[in-house]
Amino acid sequence: MPHRPYIVGNWKMNGSRAMLAEARAIDRAAGRYPDVQVALAPPFTLIGALREAVSAMGVGGQDCHVAAKGAHTGDVSAPMLVDTGADFVIVGHSERRKDHGEGDAVVKAKAEAALAAGLGIIVCVGETLDERDAGKAEAVVSGQVDGSMPEGEAANEAVAAGKVAVAYEPVWAIGTGRVAEVPDVIAMHAAIRARLLALYGDAGAKVRILYGGSVNAGNAAELLAAPGVSGALVGGASLTAEAFLPIVAAA
Ligand code: PGA
Repeated sequence: MPHRPYIVGNWKMNGSRAMLAEARAIDRAAGRYPDVQVALAPPFTLIGALREAVSAMGVGGQDCHVAAKGAHTGDVSAPMLVDTGADFVIVGHSERRKDHGEGDAVVKAKAEAALAAGLGIIVCVGETLDERDAGKAEAVVSGQVDGSMPEGEAANEAVAAGKVAVAYEPVWAIGTGRVAEVPDVIAMHAAIRARLLALYGDAGAKVRILYGGSVNAGNAAELLAAPGVSGALVGGASLTAEAFLPIVAAA
């Protein structure tokens, strides 16, 4: 099933109010590509300002807590993201899994908390280089999908409504300039789709599967044309309009 391409910029721990000009430029261009869904996930500090600054594109968070509120110093909840203007959140990014020890169960709880708050979600999965070299990439990623995807009535509704995406991001391709081979991306996206159909039945076809890992203007067209790739999660190349817009145009 063909999906509306979804191109998401993940600013990670980058960005200041001075960068809102880049976001405005990205937003103006997004308005010229109505067939492409464009979104940015800035750091928490910029979500509110970005929401005010843009109109055509989505605005999201990069993480949320599993709880809606409470004694969790320094954390931000999914309802808080909604309150500040976000419409989706990324959960389970490999940098969260590594830096904060987040395992599949925590990622799943975050995904369910986000859906309960009304957010769309992008659930990230991906193998390390050791796992790929050991021939375990598909088994590892399939296990992450099984363990990290939300379950229950709210999840089924969100899946059917097209509010759930998976990002396949091989850890060794993130921020390294090394991109996965297109046949490997196609094979992995097919493996992920099989797990989604097993988890959600026919509605699993509605989950968009994005590729992430060193996507840039030079490789976006080939990756986005690959069967089963419904968009891209872009880190470094989303920080300026100049770098990001060719990726949107390629979609
Ligand atoms: P990158 O990051 O595009 O800089 O490799 C992608 C990501 O981590 O989402």
